[in-house]
Amino acid sequence: MPPRGSRRPAAAAPDLSRFGRLAEYRRKRRFWVTPEPPGAPRAGHRAGRRGRRFAYVVQKHRASHLHYDLRLEHDGVMLSWAVPKGPSLDPSARRLAMRTEDHPLEYNDFEGVIPEGEYGAGTVMIWDRGSWEPESDDVDRAVAKGELKLRLFGEKLTGSWVLVRTRDRQWLLIKHRDSAASSEDVTVTRPLSVVSGRTMGQIAYLAEASERQLVQAAAADPPAVSALTPAAGGPAAQRPSGPRRQPSRPGRARPPRRRAG
Ligand code: MN
Repeated sequence: MPPRGSRRPAAAAPDLSRFGRLAEYRRKRRFWVTPEPPGAPRAGHRAGRRGRRFAYVVQKHRASHLHYDLRLEHDGVMLSWAVPKGPSLDPSARRLAMRTEDHPLEYNDFEGVIPEGEYGAGTVMIWDRGSWEPESDDVDRAVAKGELKLRLFGEKLTGSWVLVRTRDRQWLLIKHRDSAASSEDVTVTRPLSVVSGRTMGQIAYLAEASERQLVQAAAADPPAVSALTPAAGGPAAQRPSGPRRQPSRPGRARPPRRRAG
């Protein structure tokens, strides 16, 4: 994939070459501000051989626009595609999937809020996770060729799928016809985090999102579950306060803040 976002002159860019495939991921983020993990590329573990399973995650992400980030472990990183409409179980639906920069394996555990002003600012939910298995013999060759067949073993997404490149970074995510195919809109019927059981609105609320981010996160939940979300746009004083720090492991309760004196 050609490097993107090279607006900065090369001379001003820090040397991130030691981060290998994660150089672009590292360059885009300020890890002293964002709660996302810096991560590092891992050696080996190429998803080249059929029959071995690798990590799979889909993160629902309300950034400037809502999308679902599909990530597949390969060669020590998570290959990533942003799917604006989310995955569809309907084999006749072809969902646009924009290839994005490789992410570290540690990213799979990230659920929370990227602060305003940072790259990808907004709420992130671990929408699905599990493992995947290539149905193509050589993943590198399949990706280079622009047709990657895969099998998912997630909690929400299973069965056989294919990613097909149409041009440049633009791919399509398509469900194969099998027993996991369905006309059910899984983004609506299964809207909660598979890790914390929370809605987008609840994740934003608990991670001290800005009011704007809270409203946007709640609006990204299907109407049926928006009622579970604390009133968006309510007074900020009612929300948890404290240092901007989010549980990297969802489910950990934040202790109440004590007032000194
Ligand atoms: Mn994203």
